[in-house]
Amino acid sequence: MDNDILKVLISEEEIHKIVHRLGKEIEEDYRGKDLVVVGILRGSVVFMTDLIREIDLHLDIDFMDVSSYGDGMESTGIVKILKDLEESIKGRHVLIVEDIVDTGRTVKHLQGLLEYREAASIEVCTFLDKPTRREISGLEVKYVGTEVPNEFVVGYGLDFSQKYRNLPYVGILKPEIYE
Ligand code: 5GP
Repeated sequence: MDNDILKVLISEEEIHKIVHRLGKEIEEDYRGKDLVVVGILRGSVVFMTDLIREIDLHLDIDFMDVSSYGDGMESTGIVKILKDLEESIKGRHVLIVEDIVDTGRTVKHLQGLLEYREAASIEVCTFLDKPTRREISGLEVKYVGTEVPNEFVVGYGLDFSQKYRNLPYVGILKPEIYE
C-alpha cells in the first residue's frame, strides 16, 4: 500500500499525540455525565477505537451508518441513514465521532436528526477537518484533531473505494491511482 502513497501528511506518531490530546479534553468535559460516543461508519472506526481508550470514563459506544459519498471522491449531497443507533439517546450526552468534516453536510444532518431525539447535548469530534471546503455556515465542531488541506486523503480509517482504511498513517494518493 505504501507504494500508492504520494505523501504522508500525518505520521503514526503524530496521530497518537492528536488522539491522546482529544481523549483527555473529552475526559475533562464529560466527567460525571452519561456519555454515548457515536461513531459514523465506516471511516471513524479506526479513530474511534483509539479515542475511547484515551477517555478514562464510563461511556457507551454506538454506531450509525450514513452514505454521503459513493465510491467516488465528490459529495453527492445526499445523506441516507443506512444503520441507526441501537440505544435511545434521550437525556444523554452524545459525542458524534467523524473521520473528516469536509462540506459539513453529513454532520449537519446528523446533528438535526439527533437533536430531534432529545439528547441532553450533542457535540462533534472529528479527527480531520477541511475548513476550506465547508458549505454549511455556522457548523460547530467542538473537537478537531487537525486541519488538512484541500486534498483527498486516505488512511487511518479513510478510504478510496473502500481500500486504504488500514494504513496506519494519513496520506495523499498518487494521482495514477484514481485517475
Ligand atoms: P461531508 O458531508 O462533510 O462533505 O463529508 C464527510 C464525509 O466525506 C467523510 O465522512 C468521508 O467519508 C468523506 N470524505 C471527505 N473528504 C474526504 C477525504 O479527503 N478522503 C476520504 N477518504 N473521504 C473523505
